[in-house]
Amino acid sequence: MNILLCGLLFILAIGVIGCEAESSSGPSSVSESTTPESDAVSNDEVGTTVETASPVYVKPDPVVTLSPSPSPTSTIDTGGGTGFLIDSASTATSTQIDYTSEQWSKVWLCSDSDIESTDLTAGGTQTCSVLTEVVGDDLRVNSTGIPNHDFESTLGCCATEQNSVWTIPLKPELSYEDPVQAPERGAVAFTVTGVAIYGPEEGPGGDAVALEYGYFEEDRQPVDLGICGGHAGPGGEYHYHYDSNCMHWHEDSQDISEYVVGLAASVVSKVVGFAFDGFPIYSTYEENSAGKSIEMTSSYRLKIGEDGYDGIEDYEFMEGIGDLDECNGHFAVTPEAPNGTYHYHSTLTNGDGDLGFPYFPLCYKGIVNEDNTQTTDSGRVPPQPPDFAGGRPPPPR
Ligand SMILES: [Zn+2]
Ligand SMILES: [Zn+2]
Repeated sequence: MNILLCGLLFILAIGVIGCEAESSSGPSSVSESTTPESDAVSNDEVGTTVETASPVYVKPDPVVTLSPSPSPTSTIDTGGGTGFLIDSASTATSTQIDYTSEQWSKVWLCSDSDIESTDLTAGGTQTCSVLTEVVGDDLRVNSTGIPNHDFESTLGCCATEQNSVWTIPLKPELSYEDPVQAPERGAVAFTVTGVAIYGPEEGPGGDAVALEYGYFEEDRQPVDLGICGGHAGPGGEYHYHYDSNCMHWHEDSQDISEYVVGLAASVVSKVVGFAFDGFPIYSTYEENSAGKSIEMTSSYRLKIGEDGYDGIEDYEFMEGIGDLDECNGHFAVTPEAPNGTYHYHSTLTNGDGDLGFPYFPLCYKGIVNEDNTQTTDSGRVPPQPPDFAGGRPPPPR
């Protein structure tokens, strides 16, 4: 009898332990799914707590450093919104992008029908054409690389139709590693019209946009940006260095030669492209939670005494001067992602009202699709880790 009772108690005890084991794994998953969505959707506060193991990003060479990293499980109060910190809850709600869904399939331009665009430098027309297809877990985008608006090839004349292939994951995911630096030159992203988006640097190594605004004299190789921040490069690949908002402004067939940067304000919460990690890039202006259109500003500024002649290295990240993190992105609600998603912006100014460097993504918060830098014929170089110390990769041109 006693033995039987003991046996019963033993079984009960095992049962209790079993339950505890289950319930102890429960809360973490529950908390991930029930943590307030406001974390993910706030426009104003970019992640204020860390609940995950090691996602604190510390920019490699700058001014602001989060010192010393606390124990992985602790909560960091970053006070004034320092640092881009990946919140596990935000991650959980932010990775719900699915590029096969209806709202995302509508963002492409030049996909339903081709658009003929005039090269205002060279004369003649080129065709903007975009074809998307699902290949495995990826969305593959084939394009001619020609914008959906009349354009200026300028000095790199002339743009020619390309056989561009861009690949992004159907469901982009944030990385828990440090962000991967975008290639210093050449394509870092592409537009919904299938056009290349380049980083700030031109062939000689200067910031093409700072040059355009007269910050320095280019004595190495003449460079000129055309309408909407784009021009053609060797190989005929048309690309944007900044702006690109006119791809949407142009929809009402106004004369593109009337486009000036200030008109970007009329393009609000529009998808302009995708970074190589698959996360979307939005227009310079977005509608905030109060329904107001606001300009998204970058958080970089020129180092004292620098003018952009040496490109990226002339800038420093200054936490909090603008709206965006060191990759030029943030978490917020968008029309396509009502629960909020991480995304980048095209930036025209920083928080001080100066140059909007880096203008497009400077690094990637998500997992980068390696295919992306390898499947095209334009001499792209694969992204380097942020602490890459081997000097710059060879210029793509
Ligand atoms: Zn260029
Ligand atoms: Zn945004």
